[in-house]
Amino acid sequence: MKLSKYNILIEKGKYLILFNTISNAMLYVEQSKKNKIKKMCESKKVKIGEFEPDEIEILKKGFFILDDDFDEVEYLKLRFNAYRYSDRYLRYTIVLTEKCNFNCVYCYQQQIQSVSGKMASEIQEEQIIQLIEETKRRFESQKPKVLSVTFYGGEPLLSLEKLIFISEKFRELSKKYQVEYRPFIVTNGYLLNKITVEKLIKVGIRSVIITIDGTEEIHDKYRRLLNGGPTFSKLIENIEKIHKDMQVQLRINISKESVNSVKKLISFISEKRLNVTFDFQMIEVVKEFSNKFEDTPLTLKEFSKIEVELYKEILKYSPEYSFNPFKNLKFARCDALCLNSFVIDVDGTIHKCWGEVGNKVTIAGKLTNEGIKLNQKYTKWLVYEPYEDKECQSCIVFPACMGGCTFNAVVVDKLHGSPVKKPYRCISMKYNIKDIIEVVANQQLKLRTYSNRV
Ligand code: SF4
Ligand code: SF4
Repeated sequence: MKLSKYNILIEKGKYLILFNTISNAMLYVEQSKKNKIKKMCESKKVKIGEFEPDEIEILKKGFFILDDDFDEVEYLKLRFNAYRYSDRYLRYTIVLTEKCNFNCVYCYQQQIQSVSGKMASEIQEEQIIQLIEETKRRFESQKPKVLSVTFYGGEPLLSLEKLIFISEKFRELSKKYQVEYRPFIVTNGYLLNKITVEKLIKVGIRSVIITIDGTEEIHDKYRRLLNGGPTFSKLIENIEKIHKDMQVQLRINISKESVNSVKKLISFISEKRLNVTFDFQMIEVVKEFSNKFEDTPLTLKEFSKIEVELYKEILKYSPEYSFNPFKNLKFARCDALCLNSFVIDVDGTIHKCWGEVGNKVTIAGKLTNEGIKLNQKYTKWLVYEPYEDKECQSCIVFPACMGGCTFNAVVVDKLHGSPVKKPYRCISMKYNIKDIIEVVANQQLKLRTYSNRV
């Protein structure tokens, strides 16, 4: 037998922690067994005779040790391709409207609109009917088990009636064809009052992602209303009213200047005992389209460090917060490379990646009365092999990332669809995985919910 090349070994007090990025298994090795595991990892040799049969089983189950002829990269390719071509999921991201009630300093959608002089538009009845009919056809032919829908914008709640109509139809169809319906909304949260939430719940929507960028001072600097008015207080008021009825995830965009404000926000949210989860993102500025953002974007390395600090901050105030990014295995970084995954723009054009919405050069298909008609640009996404990159194959987080964001590789290089490259393709775990494992392990050890032990 041989050792997996995706093992990570961390010494933590009286425990040794062995983690594997293919299986996400975390093994707490007790004091008495530390030496032999350490010796095995350091010598990169598996001496079967040194372990009990049940210990070998645990090591094999977690992918820590493998048969000599097991090729991990081939296994990951197989896992990725099975996911990529699977009929299990049908995924839509639906752009309901290009309109927005906010004017965020780093938003490039509005900048593009104002440069092009085009009026913001909304999805029309024709496209809605075509989409519902197409979903019915796909339920009959593709037979997915899950319909996953992201309602997106602009600000999707500006098209509330259409959102409700579409969701109700999806809910009815899903019930009829016994498909699990998983909808959620990405919103700025300003219009998310109690009445709206009641309407959303009636049509099966219980998950929202709300963007909030810090406490009042920073949030209201970055995210103002179109008329320049502040938005922070209203947002908090809305979250207070709905957090018990909806699953609320706060998406927090971070710059160098906002870190302290985000820490204060975490303490503020925990004082108010709001039942929310957190997702941190770095602000990526498209210079050509953002002339109002004057703060400093973080580099990926800087962000990776801060991300860990912020999770520790959350656990300091809310030790019961369920933090475990390894809970679900990831088979791909993004779904743009998957067969049954579509971004539907307001005019019924089909894209593969969220970042392309509104981009005429990269249109991958169109909704028609006969269904989704795809073109050669769609094929470019499907045949792109994200894992062929040598740097990725030797990267410890490759199994969780599988080549990162492919916007530059597909949209920029293959489709020539953007003159602007994204600054990073990697995930933050490339730099902070050891720290993240420690945070998770610390919390689990504190809660005394150890998983396996050798
Ligand atoms: S983190 Fe970067 S190098 Fe590592 S697998 Fe992802 S894209 Fe490749
Ligand atoms: S290619 Fe990159 S930007 Fe596009 S959807 Fe995937 S992760 Fe997002």
